[in-house]
Amino acid sequence: MTRVGVLALQGDVREHLAVLHGLGADAAPIRSAAQLEGVDALVIPGGESSVIDRLTRILGLREPLRQRIADGMPVLGTCAGLILLADRILDAAPGQQTLGGLDVTVRRNAYGSQVDSFESSVAMPAIGDVPVAASFIRAPVVEQVGDDVTVLGEHEGRIVAVEQGALLGVSFHPELVGDDRVHRRLLARVG
Ligand code: GLN
Repeated sequence: MTRVGVLALQGDVREHLAVLHGLGADAAPIRSAAQLEGVDALVIPGGESSVIDRLTRILGLREPLRQRIADGMPVLGTCAGLILLADRILDAAPGQQTLGGLDVTVRRNAYGSQVDSFESSVAMPAIGDVPVAASFIRAPVVEQVGDDVTVLGEHEGRIVAVEQGALLGVSFHPELVGDDRVHRRLLARVG
C-alpha cells in the first residue's frame, strides 16, 4: 500500500488525510524527519506558508524535506503548499523562505482582499474532461514558469496548477470540495 504523508505542522491536514484514506492510501500526519523517511509521497497542505516555513526550520524538517524533494519524492502542494514548493515568491512575509523544487514564481495572496475566498472550477484536461472543483482561500497564483514546468490549469487566464517532474502544485484546495482527482494524480506518481 502506498504510504503518503501529510505535512502536519499547520493547515488543513485532516481533510487531506480523509481524501487519501478514501483513495485507499496508508496516509499519516508527518511532524518529524523520522516520520518523513517512512513515506513514499507527501502532501503539503494549505494554511499559512510563512508559518509552515518557520516550523519546518524549528523542527529540523527543512533540510530533510529539501533532500526528499531533490531525490524525486512525489509531492502535492496545495495553496500554501504550492508556495512552499516554489523556487521564487512575490509578496513574501519578512524572512520567509521556500523549500523550492518547482521552477516557478508564485505571488502570495494574489486575489487581494476583494476576493479573499471563493469556489470555482478549474479546467485541467490532463486530469479529466470535467473541470476540477476548487476552493480558493487567500490563494496564490503562478506568475512565471520555467521551461521544464507544465501548466495543468488556469483560472480566468491566471496559472493555478503546475507540474514539474514529481512535483504537483495547485493554488486552490481540491480537498475541501470533494474532488479527489488531484490526489489521484499524486498517487499515480508513486512508482
Ligand atoms: N495566503 C496563504 C499563504 O500565504 C495561503 C492560503 C491557503 O493556503 N489557503 O500561505
